[in-house]
Amino acid sequence: MAYKIHRTISSAVATILLLTAIVGFPFKRANALTFVTDFDPVGIYAGINTVAMSSFDVTPYGISAGQRNTVISSIMTELRNDYLNIVAPASIASGMQLAINFVEGTIGDGGATANGDTDYYYMAVGKANDASQPLGEAFTLLLSVGSVLGDVYTDEIFSSVFNGLGTPGDLSQITHVINGTLAHEVAHPLGLDHCAVAGSVTPNGLNPIMPTGAIDLPNAARLVDREFATSCVNGGTTQNSVQTLATNVGLEDSPEIPEPASILLLGIGLAGVRLMRRRAA
Ligand SMILES: [Zn+2]
Repeated sequence: MAYKIHRTISSAVATILLLTAIVGFPFKRANALTFVTDFDPVGIYAGINTVAMSSFDVTPYGISAGQRNTVISSIMTELRNDYLNIVAPASIASGMQLAINFVEGTIGDGGATANGDTDYYYMAVGKANDASQPLGEAFTLLLSVGSVLGDVYTDEIFSSVFNGLGTPGDLSQITHVINGTLAHEVAHPLGLDHCAVAGSVTPNGLNPIMPTGAIDLPNAARLVDREFATSCVNGGTTQNSVQTLATNVGLEDSPEIPEPASILLLGIGLAGVRLMRRRAA
């Protein structure tokens, strides 16, 4: 019995080591720019807010507190989608993507959640507790590493946009109404300016991410998916948002699609990696 147990463990360890060797390289993302999003902000962040924020409360949106992680996971998936799955723009070559990562974490954790990236910044998503605040705000430059670069105010988004307009409990609408502002605020320190919906061109024909309500974005458009424009206008200036992101962020190889014979092994390896990440979180 002892021998069998030992052998099982050894075999499992050997498999994990092998799979780490196989999958570790193409999925490693060290040295990319990383944005750490904190959905439980508690602070007053220099240059941004003057009243302490508090945790993202999903219950006004018709979501039970027990489903909060589902909402957060959906927002993070959509945030990554907006930046990493830009469809066939001329400025991002086939097989490449923006060199940027998005993770959940805690402001002030010293980059512990930044996947080893040394170039990390924070975004706060939660209640402003201050009715004078907008839907969100951000700096227009990257500050020093580890800085909070912007806030998304979930209570303001509820009271100014979702309440009376959105469908309570609708995960898709809640995801887009929060992430639309989050993706927008992340883009400001990466060099994007505001621009208009009118006259914009986007890869899939969706509304663009960089307009504001003060320009021409109706609140109803915040409830559905948007994307970065390849052309949009503000005053006399035309902005290619995708090109600007590619220039300012840089590009890296997209994750490779595994060979058919490797899919089973990769699946097992990834399950192991996911398990370890959950335990570490
Ligand atoms: Zn803005």
